[in-house]
Amino acid sequence: MDTQVKKTDKRIIPEVPLKNLETLWLQVGGTLCNLECTHCFISCGPKNDTIPMMTLAQVKERLEESKTLGVKDYYITGGEVFINPEIFEILALILDYGPLDVLTNGTQITAEKALRLRGIQDASNHPLRFRVSMENFEEAANDAIRGKGAYRKAVTGIQHLAETGFSPILTITRTWEEERDAEMEVQFIEFLRSNRVPQPKIKILPGFMLGQLAKNERGYNDEERVTQACFENFDITQLQCATSRMATGEGVYVCPILVDNPKARMGNNIEETLRPFPLSHSACYTCRVTGMTCKSST
Ligand code: SF4
Ligand code: SF4
Repeated sequence: MDTQVKKTDKRIIPEVPLKNLETLWLQVGGTLCNLECTHCFISCGPKNDTIPMMTLAQVKERLEESKTLGVKDYYITGGEVFINPEIFEILALILDYGPLDVLTNGTQITAEKALRLRGIQDASNHPLRFRVSMENFEEAANDAIRGKGAYRKAVTGIQHLAETGFSPILTITRTWEEERDAEMEVQFIEFLRSNRVPQPKIKILPGFMLGQLAKNERGYNDEERVTQACFENFDITQLQCATSRMATGEGVYVCPILVDNPKARMGNNIEETLRPFPLSHSACYTCRVTGMTCKSST
């Protein structure tokens, strides 16, 4: 499908086509989280129930729909997924449909939960993978953003996952100059090794100037928007919104980044979202300039 453009009075806004629906995200934790990170781009926290947690029945409904649409893999996120009381049933159910990547802050993973996760993985032919988010390999720097005690709980969660044979990928939002990525990567990999993660891997993500980060640092300025010209030398279908959608407890959104934005809600179910989406949000600028994708494989 060709990229379509929409004229506004100020600029030409590109539309991203839905090339192929390969990935379904499910926001099973809603906007509830046990942490309140100072850069959370959807301002999740213990009191933010703007988007409710998904029930097992809601997850099942979206999975059935996804099957008929040819979805190949699944990601779950929040908020924090492990505060959903049906999380283990949800994990087992999704694995009936395909490979699953779980995004978590790691702080809720006890030894007992890790063993249960191992049992769920052993009962499935599809891979169950984890991505644990942290800020730093140093406790003080991590907890300055994630809150007191977050570092120790996340490290314990990583160790429990490692002890049960999982290799969680560490995800970190960049708080340093991009030129230092290689140097930081070495230290993060060493941190994972020291916690006995069998195959240490990390993923560095850009910060989106939304939610808490917009409040605590800065929001986007008027120049930080994409136009049609931004895609003259960049294949627009490389953006994750060309191949995925985000199901939540109150509708389906274009992507996990914009669940705080009512304009990004595309329909009540996946079927209603099978159309192009106008890239009018400033966050799309970050995706374009960083080539960012939330998926693990890149
Ligand atoms: S960044 Fe992640 S761990 Fe932190 S408040 Fe947001 S959802 Fe929770
Ligand atoms: S924020 Fe990124 S993933 Fe979401 S619609 Fe914009 S370009 Fe696509």
